[in-house]
Amino acid sequence: MKRYWQNFIDGAWVDGSAGRINVTDPATAEVIAEHALADAGDVDQAVQAARRVHLSGVLTDMRPIERGRLVHAMGRYLLEHIDDIAQTLTLEQGKPLWESRIEVEGAALYFEYYGNQASTVEGRSIPLGKGYFDWTEYEPFGVSAQIIPWNYPVEMTARSLSAALATGNTCVIKSPEMTPLTNAWFAQAAQAVGLPDGAVNVLCGLGHEAGAALAAHRHVNQIVFTGSVPTGIAIATAAAGNVVPCVLELGGKSAAIVHDDADLEAFENDIRWGIYFNAGQVCSAMSRVIVHESRESELLERAEKIAKSLSVGPGIERTEFGANMGAMVSDAQRDRAAGMIARAEEQGAKVVTGGRKLNRPGAFLEPTVLANVTPDMKIAQQEVFGPVLSVLSFRDEAEAIEIANGTDYGLVGGVFTADLDRATRAARQIRAGQVFVNEWYAGGVETPFGGYGKSGYGREKGREALWNYVQTKNVAVRLKG
Ligand code: NAD
Repeated sequence: MKRYWQNFIDGAWVDGSAGRINVTDPATAEVIAEHALADAGDVDQAVQAARRVHLSGVLTDMRPIERGRLVHAMGRYLLEHIDDIAQTLTLEQGKPLWESRIEVEGAALYFEYYGNQASTVEGRSIPLGKGYFDWTEYEPFGVSAQIIPWNYPVEMTARSLSAALATGNTCVIKSPEMTPLTNAWFAQAAQAVGLPDGAVNVLCGLGHEAGAALAAHRHVNQIVFTGSVPTGIAIATAAAGNVVPCVLELGGKSAAIVHDDADLEAFENDIRWGIYFNAGQVCSAMSRVIVHESRESELLERAEKIAKSLSVGPGIERTEFGANMGAMVSDAQRDRAAGMIARAEEQGAKVVTGGRKLNRPGAFLEPTVLANVTPDMKIAQQEVFGPVLSVLSFRDEAEAIEIANGTDYGLVGGVFTADLDRATRAARQIRAGQVFVNEWYAGGVETPFGGYGKSGYGREKGREALWNYVQTKNVAVRLKG
């Protein structure tokens, strides 16, 4: 592991004017590297470089299919370096090595998907009668600022960077303080495929300093943010100050409604992935299950079995796909989750299994299942962002929907039933940007993703996300004849 990692501004690897930050392996609590920290001046240099490239027209003049090829090649670069990226990701973030490989593969998929679509962003012609010729076209905004969270640092950057480049924007990426290392490969990829210096800039800095400076920079033309609600509000406020659009993806408290006719054996898999993948640090995690009272005890037994089947320990030792979980990203995040469990117990929730820190160094929390959770409890309202499943029960369909919709969030939701009518009704009634029927996380890079309510606005993934990165221009021509 390289001990010191720099920022990448205007095609050069540079130190940070705000010094350095330690990067810690959450599985051992040991410092594994230092990363350069950018200040507002560094952010300004990166934005100016991105702006210069944008104004030069080098990306916008290019035939889109060729731009798409560059984007595509960046994904291949990631796959060529998957061993190194995955290992670094596990060491900085804590997830099992096999999960890190899945993340890198997922990141590459974004470059493939959006690279393929660069040439499909087509305008239309609008009939205005004799003497006129009118068309629309989509132009990139210019400089896209992308502020990245620590839970999926590789996939989140890939998601916005690939779509932004495919549509001809230039980018400044603010990597997360806790997990900045793996973002270096995006800079390397940009260099390797031959993007011009300044087209992709990657810097790490403190949120309230470099992040805030980037969000408020007057030459940033569009912002993408994934993270917490308070930070999302700060960023939207900064964006409003410059009248630029932003996409906000702010997490959730997503619920699966499990009906009396659901296949609970199959649902074990949804519990496994829905709340214990990445130790539950997933914005669209299945953090609540709302089960029909007639199946509650059976579901709790199955959830307990799944939670207990997972071995918890250092991600770097967990090389093979299997029943295991790594560390959370930091002791602070782990303690926050453990504190939320303790408060839930005080409010009357019952710990069915888990709930404790592991008795060893590292940010480990047992996979946890909570029963007797009621909708008014904090644990049922607030995002834990950890491996903690809250189980609530319902008597009739209307109550299930009311509980599911009873938080400030609205990122995703799920319904599990053998009855298609019931599933369709629920899909219409659940207030969320994405509804899963009979499989949590069904969908992929092709399906639009984003929130209702405090989960944010704008959509990532799918064709829909492309329109975040372009603005419509109409050209109306008065002809002589
Ligand atoms: P955060 O929102 O504070 O940080 C996310 C990113 O925003 C980081 O890159 C950070 O440096 C930057 N940032 C922070 N303050 C900023 C500001 N004022 N202006 C511009 N950028 C700023 O999130 P966090 O502290 O890393 O995590 C806190 C909580 O956020 C978590 O417990 C979790 O609930 C939630 N979260 C959600 C997601 C998600 O995928 N939706 C991801 C990470 C965290």
